[in-house]
Amino acid sequence: MPDISYCEFANGLPLKNVDRIHHDTVHGFAVHDDNELFGRLILEINQAGLNWTLILKKEAGFRRAYDGFEVGRIALYGDSDRLRLLADAGIVRNRRKIEAIIHNAGVVMALKQKHGSFKAWLDGHHPLELPSWIKLFKTTFRFTGPEIVNEWLMSTGYIEGAHKPGCPVYKRVIASRPMWLMR
Ligand SMILES: [Zn+2]
Repeated sequence: MPDISYCEFANGLPLKNVDRIHHDTVHGFAVHDDNELFGRLILEINQAGLNWTLILKKEAGFRRAYDGFEVGRIALYGDSDRLRLLADAGIVRNRRKIEAIIHNAGVVMALKQKHGSFKAWLDGHHPLELPSWIKLFKTTFRFTGPEIVNEWLMSTGYIEGAHKPGCPVYKRVIASRPMWLMR
């Protein structure tokens, strides 16, 4: 990311650019669906050490390879799925990331069983300060370092900061009623 905010960067791009579309329609908007929440975690985990634009370009590939981000199916992945993912050039072929995602899908299924949904578990902890979220994710999931957790929370609306107040998208994000507004 250049030395400007994501808003400035994205707003300077053509309307059909992947970063522009993500900024204008996804980033910071409230997310209500468990699979989508988990899918966004898949993308953030895969971004580690790589460029976010690359991840966005591969998003359709991730969706296809990971069964539309259906947590229940990913949790059941066995060895053949691991091999399939490691061989899929449409995604990031990193064994540690793939293992972490499958493991985390199992964790989310356990959370769903106990709390009704992944979102209910998250909402039950909200609001938390960022260091507490980081600690919670560290003790609950794999491959969820501080940066991944911070980005994921901003992107899904659990913490403030996805858009600058002067950004043209800011008002639409507020209208989606992200969780950070409901303290
Ligand atoms: Zn913005």
